[in-house]
Amino acid sequence: MNKPMLLALLSAGLTLGPLSAYGQDWKTITRYEKAPIKEQLTERFLKYVKVDTQSNADTDQVPSTKGQKQLAKQLAKELKKYGAQDVKINEYSIVTGLLPSNIKKEVPSIAFLAHMDTAPEISGKDVKPRVIRKYDGKDIVINAERNLVLNSYTAPLLTKAHGHDLIVASGSTLLGADDKTGIAIIMTMVQYLYDHPEISHGPITIVFTPDEETGAGIEKLDIASLGVDYAYTVDGEDQGELMTENFNAKAFTAVFTGNRAVHPGAAQNSAFADNLLMASDFHTLLPRQQRPETTADKRGFIYVDEISTQGDVTTIKGIIRAFTDEEFNSLTSTVQNAFNTVKAMNPRAKAATLEFKDEYKNMKASLPPEMLALTKTAMQAEEITPKEISARGGTDGATLAAAGIPTPDIFAGMYNIHSELEYADVDVMEASFRTLMRLTSLWAQQNAKQPSNQ
Ligand SMILES: [Zn+2]
Repeated sequence: MNKPMLLALLSAGLTLGPLSAYGQDWKTITRYEKAPIKEQLTERFLKYVKVDTQSNADTDQVPSTKGQKQLAKQLAKELKKYGAQDVKINEYSIVTGLLPSNIKKEVPSIAFLAHMDTAPEISGKDVKPRVIRKYDGKDIVINAERNLVLNSYTAPLLTKAHGHDLIVASGSTLLGADDKTGIAIIMTMVQYLYDHPEISHGPITIVFTPDEETGAGIEKLDIASLGVDYAYTVDGEDQGELMTENFNAKAFTAVFTGNRAVHPGAAQNSAFADNLLMASDFHTLLPRQQRPETTADKRGFIYVDEISTQGDVTTIKGIIRAFTDEEFNSLTSTVQNAFNTVKAMNPRAKAATLEFKDEYKNMKASLPPEMLALTKTAMQAEEITPKEISARGGTDGATLAAAGIPTPDIFAGMYNIHSELEYADVDVMEASFRTLMRLTSLWAQQNAKQPSNQ
């Protein structure tokens, strides 16, 4: 497969064929039944959450914890068992495997990704999952002693889960639904394609990554060598959610150097300059109406997350987040202007510097509309209503998109993530599984991506 470059992607002019969603119905071909798939998803999920893969943000090592290595080995073995080729675990415990195309026609090469680690801030050791079959709509007591209860207040989406199979934790740990639901869904798809070789599909690459929660894992993925045209992370929440954009992100560091080695009683008419005052003026000049706690939905923010002083030097670190380039640039100017104002007010400052550092980009611009249309068609063909959402943060998909592989995120049926109230909805996992199956069928009907000249 060709390995597209970022610019090539934007200008290649994709040649997707007609979206004949109903031309090849995998459910008719295989006489699909929900119940055994729900059973497989449940069993797999229960197996994966037994491995403690809590990530650790306080180390540079990838994987940051041993449990991730163990899960990587387990998953590689399972991929091989269900016919994946070229299964590898690299030195960072990234697991990759390929389901080779079983059709003659050249079609786009796609990938599905999920992450093995769980959130660093809460224990994932000795998770004791509990399966609740056909949820009756009542409150779910997770731990009575600690008053941990799932109800319409602590879990607003639970009202939609009537009659579903749910999996909850037991109070002292998270569950690990983020993102072991995603792994279970992808692995169940791999097995289904193995059990049903009559279903046509193009090349499908599977990737399980470590340390998504700390952001370190995806950096270790050799994206170019995957040879993939389009990818999906399976790491989203409620049914139908399709995450197509994330924040643009940059960091800034302002350093004010004063001169306070003067007796304050004799500061007037001296070289006295107060770095503490400069820093607090700078912070005050940043707009209150564009802070994290005063913004939501599509509005971006500026956030100072560290102020530290050593003698005459005060350092202020912060971040800028926004979806549109317009707002992103405007917030950057706001920070620059505040800095300029403070600098102008303090001619006696020994030094004042401001630096910006780009972190990640909104992936939206690099998602071809044809890919979005095809993905929504896949959901609709499975009677799932697609709902495009924006992530007020970064995603692994943004890193892939920046490297030329458009990678939206698909729902996986996880709720209340990163908490003891985390739960998984097996019926939503099953809907995600069907979305993946439909996607593989739809992509197999498309024309291969055109090699670009760039
Ligand atoms: Zn996740």
